[in-house]
Amino acid sequence: MKIFMSTDIEGLSGIPSWEWWKNNIKGTTEILIRHILPLIDVIKEYDSEAEVVIVDSHSKGENMSVLDFPEEYRHVFLISGFPRKDYMMSGFDGTYDGVIFVGYHSLIGGGGAMDHTYSSSSIYNIRVNGEPVGETTINAAFAGEFGVPVILVVGQKEMQWEMEKYLPNTVFVPVQEAVGRFATKNSLLHEVARNIQIGTQEAIDKLQNGSIRPFTFSSPIEVEIDWLSSSIADVVSQMPIMKRISPRTTRYTVGTWVEGFRWLLSAVYMSYLGQR
Ligand SMILES: [Zn+2]
Repeated sequence: MKIFMSTDIEGLSGIPSWEWWKNNIKGTTEILIRHILPLIDVIKEYDSEAEVVIVDSHSKGENMSVLDFPEEYRHVFLISGFPRKDYMMSGFDGTYDGVIFVGYHSLIGGGGAMDHTYSSSSIYNIRVNGEPVGETTINAAFAGEFGVPVILVVGQKEMQWEMEKYLPNTVFVPVQEAVGRFATKNSLLHEVARNIQIGTQEAIDKLQNGSIRPFTFSSPIEVEIDWLSSSIADVVSQMPIMKRISPRTTRYTVGTWVEGFRWLLSAVYMSYLGQR
């Protein structure tokens, strides 16, 4: 078995705000690791030779290190650092059997704490084929085009809507609920670990009996991005693929999501030049 795991932090139990994260870097690492280890343990129970590649995907991808993992684990790899191609899906290809998202959060406007989609400082909204999408769906569709399903998502309760709409058969373990944009109600970590273990068992069973289909967008794929300011749209509309359809909105159309995903990341990287 070969599993790809992409990790964020906003949807972990115990994280209320970005300010808290910046003041508690070590605590964040410990919380993150305590969501990941129960999951790896279950995967190893099913297949001791399983390969697990963990892609640290919050901010600059330096939220944990190899020092944080038990030494006895074999075939577990950690991708760290930034910038890197395909960011939250860095290193992914069609050789994996399943994908897991940990610490994922609601799309911007979706009601979760610290809600955002790819960039809290650049993006107001992203629609694919007319429907709002968050990072979970965007990344799941990237894996889906390689024929690989997302088997498990651990994150914010407010993701329920996005899960039901796009990934209804994926196992979902909510561990955190918003009280406000920078305030959360969190389960304690022993209970989180237990729920993640149960969810991982269910996810692997579903993977093995083939009951989770890879998710894909229907082609042609039309992507509309509402930027936070018109100066960002000024910069991003320099990309030949982008059509500016209003002062703050650009649109592009592609045939495949591998292409669409990479244009999206290109636009996000470029958008930082438009902030002044
Ligand atoms: Zn994040």
